[in-house]
Amino acid sequence: MKIYICPGSYDPVTSGHADIITRAADHCDKLIIALGENSLKNTFFTLKERIAFLKKVFNGNEKIEIESYSGLTTEYARIKKATALVRGLRAVSDFEYEYQMAMLNRKLNPDVETLFFMASPEYSYISSGAVREFLRNDADITGLVPECIREDIIALSRKKMMK
Ligand code: ADP
Repeated sequence: MKIYICPGSYDPVTSGHADIITRAADHCDKLIIALGENSLKNTFFTLKERIAFLKKVFNGNEKIEIESYSGLTTEYARIKKATALVRGLRAVSDFEYEYQMAMLNRKLNPDVETLFFMASPEYSYISSGAVREFLRNDADITGLVPECIREDIIALSRKKMMK
């Protein structure tokens, strides 16, 4: 059984993430979307909220699982018996960071390969950060996030901003 991991923060999941995940799932038997818990990043949506969005988007896809993990991604991959980490590449600007992460992860565990999927052109300008910026300014996020979670994201973000 070929198991891949898609690590990320998904704050929130975007149409770009969904595209990479769906395409990567075609190349393995099981794909685990893994949300890192130990990142120093402060997220806008809580772990529970980010997982709920992902679950709604991939509900019904039997190959895809959603989990959170703490500690090193390569160690999590070893425990899950995954052979590869999947990352998306949007532009040249993603390359430097992704290259460094891939080399560090290889050093930590040479048995886990990092696989890159090129972003589809229609999604290559989308980032979770841009979605959050749109939400903060009440701009239209249609197309930036999967349609089935668009209204949930807007409602939750308005609730958070009222606090
Ligand atoms: P991280 O916090 O680890 O960067 P993200 O949730 O922002 O996690 O992204 C997870 C992965 O998805 C990364 O490999 C990132 O490059 C990729 N990604 C993000 N946005 C897009 C997009 N619009 N198209 C394709 N890949 C993307």
